Amino acid sequence: MRISNLDDIVEAGLCAGCGICESIAGRDVVEMDLTRDGRIRPRTKASLDHGTFQQIMQVCPGVTVTGPAKGQAGPSGAMHGVFGPMASLNRGWASDENTRFHAAAGGALTALGIYLVRSGKVDTVLHIKASETNPILSDAWISTTEQDVFDGAQSRYGPGASLTHVHKLLDEGRIFAVIGKPCDIAAIRNLGRVDDRVETQIPYCLTIFCGGTMSLNMLNRMPEYFGAAPEDLNLFRYRGEGWPGTTHMETKDGRSFDLTYDESWYGEDVPWTYDLQFRCKICPDAIGELADVSCPDGWIMENGEPLHEEAPGANLIIGRTPKGAELVREAEAAGALTLEPYALADFEIMHRDHKPRKTGWPGRMLGLRLAGQPAMQVRGYRRLAALMAAGPRYFLASLFGGLRRARAGLNREAGFRN
Ligand SMILES: Cc1cc2nc3c(=O)[nH]c(=O)nc-3n(C[C@H](O)[C@H](O)[C@H](O)COP(=O)(O)OP(=O)(O)OC[C@H]3O[C@@H](n4cnc5c(N)ncnc54)[C@H](O)[C@@H]3O)c2cc1C
Ligand code: SF4
Ligand code: SF4
Repeated sequence: MRISNLDDIVEAGLCAGCGICESIAGRDVVEMDLTRDGRIRPRTKASLDHGTFQQIMQVCPGVTVTGPAKGQAGPSGAMHGVFGPMASLNRGWASDENTRFHAAAGGALTALGIYLVRSGKVDTVLHIKASETNPILSDAWISTTEQDVFDGAQSRYGPGASLTHVHKLLDEGRIFAVIGKPCDIAAIRNLGRVDDRVETQIPYCLTIFCGGTMSLNMLNRMPEYFGAAPEDLNLFRYRGEGWPGTTHMETKDGRSFDLTYDESWYGEDVPWTYDLQFRCKICPDAIGELADVSCPDGWIMENGEPLHEEAPGANLIIGRTPKGAELVREAEAAGALTLEPYALADFEIMHRDHKPRKTGWPGRMLGLRLAGQPAMQVRGYRRLAALMAAGPRYFLASLFGGLRRARAGLNREAGFRN
């Protein structure tokens, strides 16, 4: 099966919902919109010319992803077989207590974003924020002040197209940082291969570790669980205001509801199931190998397991490039970040939940192909190391799991044609 248009990418379950296709083609031609599956996807509104479609094919992170260069971490860094380039590793948080409390984890990303604007290294930060029309959804957010960056803090687990304004900012000559999910950063790196402006105008890319994006259909069940209609909400916060903070909902008539982190995402007696988009299930890089800095949670561990009890927020802060490691050091010296050393062996335990995807993607991609379905072109993600770490049993499980799911059509998604 070949990809001939954007609907093919969506229906094959490869779309991550990043929105860079809208940015490339312009909203008159491609507009990100909600499908009946509750996912934000590109709707083609007018005929896409061949050149524009070819450029989207080169940039779309549902079609192609290229991993880090061997030396990305620099001469004093290392390439971890599973976890990628490591130019520096710390545990840390925003030194400003207000930011640390408000943000998703320790506020490291917001502190770095604020530092980048304050120091004049960038004039703008492109990231995401709750949508004003539906607070469960998120919209791309252009921050030009420190307050804007602060206002765009916190994790957004639902649909939201982060990259719809990239070309507007490039055309305006802005120098900007992108804070986004790892697939968003993959799109920016792909764009850099076809658009020279990226290297000079997007000097910093910052990211998270990413468990994946859920559908609106799933998330709507949360207010409904408390007897509220999704359209009654004027606030939906996934986390933050504490660490990890609750999923907090407020209605226009003054009611409010909370779910703990574990109830939200691991609850057993709740009327929703973890409805990830298919692209997330085959994601070769949900840990931000291509960014300059990647900031997962810096969980407090008990008996080898992360504790999700409320505590002062913390991140792990991984410099993925020498430039990223330098940014982290500078932000610490400027008083924006507080850092402590962190051991690689502890990191490998804390974030081992990412190992199955990091080692399973070659099998899953092959399974899709054997089923005659389109799969991503994945280059430079240390396929051999992934296979060795997976071992034959897990490789075969990933392969046959991928094949079975694709044959059953479980990768397929509703687009705008059906
Ligand atoms: C979908 C999703 C899945 C995650 N899965 C994991 C995981 O498996 N393991 C883990 O350790 N951490 C995960 N996190 C990351 C974690 O929730 C924190 O966001 C991260 O540790 C950064 O914390 P912080 O306090 O530095 O972020 P903050 O200072 O609060 O800043 C977060 C930044 O990320 C941007 N952002 C938030 N959501 C999105 C989004 N959906 N798309 C693009 N940009 C966004 C915000 O605009 C903001 O600039 C996930 C986050 C998200 C959004
Ligand atoms: S992954 Fe991004 S670029 Fe590709 S089709 Fe989806 S929204 Fe468009
Ligand atoms: S899991 Fe991968 S594809 Fe899914 S949202 Fe995260 S980075 Fe993007």
